[in-house]
Amino acid sequence: MDFFSDYTLTIGGKARATARSLDVKNPATGQPFAAAPAASAQDLDDAVAAAQAALPAWKALPIAERRNVINAAANAIKANADDLARLFTLEQGRPLEAARQEILFGSFWLKAVAKLDLPVEVVEDTPARRVEIHHEPLGVVCAIVPWNFPFLLATWKIGPALLAGNTMVMKPSPFTPLLALKLAELWREILPPGVFNVLSGGDELGPLMTAHPGFAKISFTGSTATGKRVMEAAARDLKSITLELGGNDVAIIMPDVDIDQVAREIFHGAFYNSAQVCVATKRLYIHDDIYDALRDRLHALALEARVDDGMKPGTHYGPVQNEPLHRRLLGLIDEARAEGLTLLTGRETPDNGGYFVPLTLVDNPPEHARVVAEEAFGPVLPLLRFTDVEDVIRRANDSNYGLAGAIWSKNVDNAVAIAKRLETGTVWINQNLQNAPHIPFAGQKESGIGVENGMEGLKSFTQIKSIFIPKAQA
Ligand code: NAD
Repeated sequence: MDFFSDYTLTIGGKARATARSLDVKNPATGQPFAAAPAASAQDLDDAVAAAQAALPAWKALPIAERRNVINAAANAIKANADDLARLFTLEQGRPLEAARQEILFGSFWLKAVAKLDLPVEVVEDTPARRVEIHHEPLGVVCAIVPWNFPFLLATWKIGPALLAGNTMVMKPSPFTPLLALKLAELWREILPPGVFNVLSGGDELGPLMTAHPGFAKISFTGSTATGKRVMEAAARDLKSITLELGGNDVAIIMPDVDIDQVAREIFHGAFYNSAQVCVATKRLYIHDDIYDALRDRLHALALEARVDDGMKPGTHYGPVQNEPLHRRLLGLIDEARAEGLTLLTGRETPDNGGYFVPLTLVDNPPEHARVVAEEAFGPVLPLLRFTDVEDVIRRANDSNYGLAGAIWSKNVDNAVAIAKRLETGTVWINQNLQNAPHIPFAGQKESGIGVENGMEGLKSFTQIKSIFIPKAQA
């Protein structure tokens, strides 16, 4: 199989070419390097019909057999990790080794999810009756994925949805369609036809999908603004939804930390994947006692870090993924400079038409500045001073978002006490960006609805059925 040409939709286990196509650009050059198919409304109808046709046999399989199929699918990813990683870097921009890690993590994730089980639960067992809770598949799932983790976030949906007995039509972002298209091609001989269908397309395809009456559930990861539109569309026929949305996450650094030790970890938590991470640190609150020292250490790390084409060995951070984001980030930096804010900039970046943004720290801007109040979703990080714990908790919670947060302190009990007061779905103490297949992930406030991962995430791809079984005849 050639991973670098001939991109086609997968519908009912077969390749489908389209009349229209989308240019896919390499973010390191800004130049198109591939054409992805642009699915039509007819392609969507056909994919939903194929997924519906595959549903009865797939959900009738014992879970152990679906588990075997998912394991085989995960093995195929691992066996092709090098090609998938190259394709990842070409379309997404992330340095090659980090791209490879996401591919392998996706394979690991599918296998870990496949180990889960959905046993019948007995909630009452008396002489009169037994009441069982069954978790049945919902039907055909519409999965919509963003461009920042185009592979891993797809596996977060595919694994539990398919294990639970659903079938799926997935749409990758128009900025990174190629990995998902090739994943479906790779699996054409592994998954029964119609169980997993992939459609790429332009901006019109997402709304067509969320409005389609053939879906039972929408599992969406992306921005809060789009999430609200998805929820409106789902309301028309009350589709089940899971929304994993944006965040403006804080890290709170207490004065007792070892500055040199934590600086690298904080830097990683803020800038990994060029800061295009939903749970990246996006507001860094540093205690006044250590503010200057930690700021200077972080600036030194920014000056060391090489931002360049992810295909070049030695690149630490790639370009940002797309042109609109690049334009918005440069605008945010210009605006901060025009407002007289102090910017501490990292190493120079290539000037070749690629979407490069220098790693930028903003030195103690006011809380209302756009760099603080908005999710930047790129390497522009505000550093904010605090002295009082009550004050920093108030500032941290003063956001419509509530995805994740982190606290760094030698006093773990104290950090746990602060963690309990943060209005976020995840809090890390002395660590960052951690997640695992058995740990539920959910956003509070406008960061999401529902849960991914863990047993809660798996169950969110099921419909509960309570069966009342009498023991004695009336
Ligand atoms: P986006 O909302 O622009 O796009 C996400 C997906 O939705 C894409 O596939 C897009 O084509 C599709 N889409 C666009 N309009 C649609 C519509 N009206 N109906 C249905 N689908 C539509 O987001 P993005 O820019 O691709 O991703 C970045 C955002 O995603 C950030 O806000 C980030 O924080 C968030 N994110 C959240 C998580 C999480 O798990 N909470 C993970 C990664 C990214």
